[in-house]
Amino acid sequence: MNASAQFAIAADCVFDGETLHHHAAVLVDGGRIAKIMSQADIGVSLAALPQGSWLVPGFVDLQVNGGGDVLFNDAPTAEAIFAIAAAHRKFGTTGLLPTLITDHPEKTAAAIAAVQEAMRREPAILGLHLEGPFLSREKPGVHDVARIRAPTPADLEALTAPRRGARVVTLAPEQVPAGVIERLVAADIRVCLGHSMATYAQTRAALAAGLTGFTHLFNAMRPLESREPGPIAAALETPGCWYGLIADGVHVDPAMLRLALRGLGNPMLVTDAMPPVGGSRMTFRLCGREISVREDRCVTDDGTLAGAFLDMASAVRNCVRLLGLSLPQALRLASVNPAAFLGLEVGRLAPGYRADMVALDPEKVEVQKTWIAGVETSDE
Ligand SMILES: [Zn+2]
Repeated sequence: MNASAQFAIAADCVFDGETLHHHAAVLVDGGRIAKIMSQADIGVSLAALPQGSWLVPGFVDLQVNGGGDVLFNDAPTAEAIFAIAAAHRKFGTTGLLPTLITDHPEKTAAAIAAVQEAMRREPAILGLHLEGPFLSREKPGVHDVARIRAPTPADLEALTAPRRGARVVTLAPEQVPAGVIERLVAADIRVCLGHSMATYAQTRAALAAGLTGFTHLFNAMRPLESREPGPIAAALETPGCWYGLIADGVHVDPAMLRLALRGLGNPMLVTDAMPPVGGSRMTFRLCGREISVREDRCVTDDGTLAGAFLDMASAVRNCVRLLGLSLPQALRLASVNPAAFLGLEVGRLAPGYRADMVALDPEKVEVQKTWIAGVETSDE
């Protein structure tokens, strides 16, 4: 379908990110949402979804290490990014940040260049997430401790150079010199706490310096404790902050996820996905270590979790089935919230927003079709 054409999609139910519209249609013009209207009022050609299907905002995933048997750290190229995006599109992801975990400086430079090139050709690529290397050696998770380091002036120069696209940096605030968070934020980078042993006081100072996010809240950070509440308490009590949650039922107990949903900040679903998601091979290598999928989790030989075997549709489904959210509530965590964190006009079916849409079976929470900027992608 031509991206510039005007067309409409009718569905038994349209969820725009806020409200459910029954027997409605979404009018798309030039790759953007024009309006939501009653099916009877549509004057242009109308494509109807199967009976019972919902039309919902496309999912936005801030943390994608890999997919389709490709690991971004292994291949920081535009082609690798396209393969990863194609794998995740099948599960409703219409916008994502390829995520580079802690690696050598040359890898970071290659990742930055690859994302710039990929963004010119693939609208699903919204920017870049650098998870590390400025992390705590006490909370490396699967990151290579030998590559964790403090930022140099050259690092900051490279990170803050003007570029297109959204940029997220995950760091441990207690491991970076004073002024680093402010400098990144001033360059319009979203700074998230992650892989960190920051105390509550250090976290509050980082929030005051402009940190706005928390990467995979609960995982790889100082735990919640009675006399040292750490980053988790600071996140949950801060209105306007954002936290990524891995809702696979493995990384975080459902009871802790429900606690996060009662916090004052804004929860967002992330997959932290690894190459087996949308791929065919159930093993891969990460920083020289063999990782395999066992019981729906990616683990090293010693059982350390190494990212997730999770796609966005499954994360939404888990929010409904494990956490008791309504489907609209779960969908917001996968679309409205991450898009708002990045400040992008995606993640809603509202006038002027990019026409990133998912046709969904609401019972099974399975993706039937996707559109990115008004272009149907299921047939590609
Ligand atoms: Zn991580």
